[in-house]
Amino acid sequence: MLSLKPLPLSHNPSFLHSLTPFTPPPFPRTQTLKPSKHASPPSAIQSALQWNRKPELAGETPRVVVITSGKGGVGKTTTTANIGISLARLGFSVVAVDCDVGLRNLDLLLGLENRVNYTLVEVLNGDCRLDQALVRDKRWSNFELLCISKPRSKLPLGFGGKALVWLVDSLKQRPEGCPQFILIDCPAGIDAGFITAITPANEAVLVTTPDITSLRDADRVTGLLECDGIRDIKMIVNRVRTDMIKGEDMMSVLDVQEMLGLALLGAIPEDSEVIRSTNRGYPLVLNKPPTLAGLAFEQAAWRLVEQDSMQAVLVEEEPKRRGLFSFFGG
Ligand code: ADP
Ligand code: MG
Repeated sequence: MLSLKPLPLSHNPSFLHSLTPFTPPPFPRTQTLKPSKHASPPSAIQSALQWNRKPELAGETPRVVVITSGKGGVGKTTTTANIGISLARLGFSVVAVDCDVGLRNLDLLLGLENRVNYTLVEVLNGDCRLDQALVRDKRWSNFELLCISKPRSKLPLGFGGKALVWLVDSLKQRPEGCPQFILIDCPAGIDAGFITAITPANEAVLVTTPDITSLRDADRVTGLLECDGIRDIKMIVNRVRTDMIKGEDMMSVLDVQEMLGLALLGAIPEDSEVIRSTNRGYPLVLNKPPTLAGLAFEQAAWRLVEQDSMQAVLVEEEPKRRGLFSFFGG
């Protein structure tokens, strides 16, 4: 098991303070994000201390978390890779399951595509053992990847939720110990693949972008998750653009939270580094120096560990400048 490496002070995300209520920017017409339980340090020093402690694992292990959305392309796989690697870096044992049959890409994001020799389908067919299908990460030995099937292949008839329940039970009985987190990267849509992916989960992370199509799908998925008995649902709002929120061209995180009524695990800004890191097969959270989106993912991982959430609140609106004095900047 890897021990926690305390983040140096330079890791203290001072610019993240713009997302927290204690150092609000002068007049932004934007939302600020308030951590609800932990991480509400009144000063930069306490904030640094917060980052040097290890998060306390809440809930029973293994925590089986499905990362879902309904709509495709909103950032489920990016979230699974970055939260998974963050958890491993914090010292937790993680198994990430790519449930996107035929269109898998979690292996690419992690730079492990050449190491996947077997998949869960082959394990179930008796062609290999489970440990042969689990791919250990190059950087963090406590992170393992499992793909459901080969790219562009179809699942055999009869493969369903029971297969994943069997997988979770088998992981629990591994001689090397049960993983603390099992993250399931869910495929888009709400058909058989979705049902299969959510079956073994007892909590969900719903990824959405602040646009109406994504929100509509997220709302529908929330209903389906609740129907399936998954009550612990937290959301990640991805690809947030403060400039567009200021211009009232994008919904704010607060608007999204009010529409979905879910606890907020994190708000991830739009960041071109995400695409760069995807292409390099190097998760964003490992970037040095850290990027804004990488730090937001890392904070989301902390909240997931502690079953914590944050609140989006509207601070102040930019005063509208009208009249003669506004011309002179008054
Ligand atoms: P999904 O798994 O939901 O289909 P992906 O995680 O594959 O979505 O992401 C879809 C695309 O969006 C990828 O090209 C990814 O690099 C990009 N992307 C995801 N999150 C962000 C972000 N915060 N900023 C910029 N690009 C992002
Ligand atoms: Mg995906």
